[in-house]
Amino acid sequence: MTRRVYLDWNATAPLRPEAAAALAAVSALPGNPSSVHQEGRAARNAVETAREEVAALVGARSGEVTFTGSGTEANVLALTPAIETSGEKRPRDRLFISAVEHSSVRAGGRFPRAATSDLAVDAEGRVDLAALAQALAKTERPLVSIMLANNETGVLQPVAEAAALVHAAGGLLHVDAVQAAGRVPIDISALGADLLTLSAHKIGGAKGVGALIRAREDIHFADPLIRGGGQERGLRAGTENVAGIAAFGAAAAAARRQLAAEGAHMLALRQELEAGLLAVAADTVVFGAGAERLPNTALFGRPGMKAETAIIAFDLEGVALSSGAACSSGKVQPSHVLAAMGVDAGLARGALRASLGWNSQQADIAAFLGAWRKVATALSKGSKQRSGMAA
Ligand code: PLP
Repeated sequence: MTRRVYLDWNATAPLRPEAAAALAAVSALPGNPSSVHQEGRAARNAVETAREEVAALVGARSGEVTFTGSGTEANVLALTPAIETSGEKRPRDRLFISAVEHSSVRAGGRFPRAATSDLAVDAEGRVDLAALAQALAKTERPLVSIMLANNETGVLQPVAEAAALVHAAGGLLHVDAVQAAGRVPIDISALGADLLTLSAHKIGGAKGVGALIRAREDIHFADPLIRGGGQERGLRAGTENVAGIAAFGAAAAAARRQLAAEGAHMLALRQELEAGLLAVAADTVVFGAGAERLPNTALFGRPGMKAETAIIAFDLEGVALSSGAACSSGKVQPSHVLAAMGVDAGLARGALRASLGWNSQQADIAAFLGAWRKVATALSKGSKQRSGMAA
């Protein structure tokens, strides 16, 4: 059987061993964290330990972490007009989102479509700060949502600079840090984020758990996401996913401990991968290569390449890749990220994403490059035949 090479960590990361151990151990606890007896207290303890571990990953206080059912859900919780602060009780009047956000932010959360505006990005996919300043001048109580790292290109956004502009305009900043977590250091205060989203399964926790983290306790949601039993400070009712949350905490602790070493490891492999791409086919384009990027992500394309056929060819060679956004894999659609960056539609249609993780191996890169040689050769032969037919 062909050895499988998993290079789709931005879609989801395999469970870290620490998270798998926590998942198994905490699944065996019988109690409900809302119960006062000993079994309930043990379950509560697992949730609160995880809250501390998740908070520590981003330099926040544990009391500011709200667990949700996914990163998507945390984004929807965050994006509401009904955010109050001690200085401002009136609803937020407008939501600004960058043109390259994940679909869960692009959907605008609980803002009416008419109160949502796009922020343009430059050719590398970074938010245009001058356009942001101009947009902010026209509103009174804006909420702005800018991701820390893009899921398709890995490009890092100038979040701290954007935060200074947003705060000067009386606004609040939400940062989707789902892809950045565990790959680059995050400090919620240094970023200037008021709200920050994480997702467990991107850092080696289980699927189906997320978190929204406040920078300060005076940020208050006047409209809870799910009303009911009052869990998660009344913001998200429903008995907590205790084992999933415990695994999230264990993954966050491991990611934090190993951040520097894992980051350097992924970067070295990614550099080898990108050098190999170009050595095989010099007309390969790595999107966002001129910007600061996550150490683990390479989105690349070649004129004439079709993502859907290339993904299948890689898969048959044992290599799991993605075309741009994972959520649209399977039904390959043109990437809104590359469109916003002004990439030619034909080139964008062929974009493939290789994303690495902490246990990616040098042998994975060698296998990937072996497959790339075959895919690129087939593509060149195909285009020669086509041009021969045309002549
Ligand atoms: N935000 C970004 C940047 C993502 O890449 C994703 C998932 O791909 C999400 C949010 C959604 O996270 P979840 O899968 O936990 O809903």
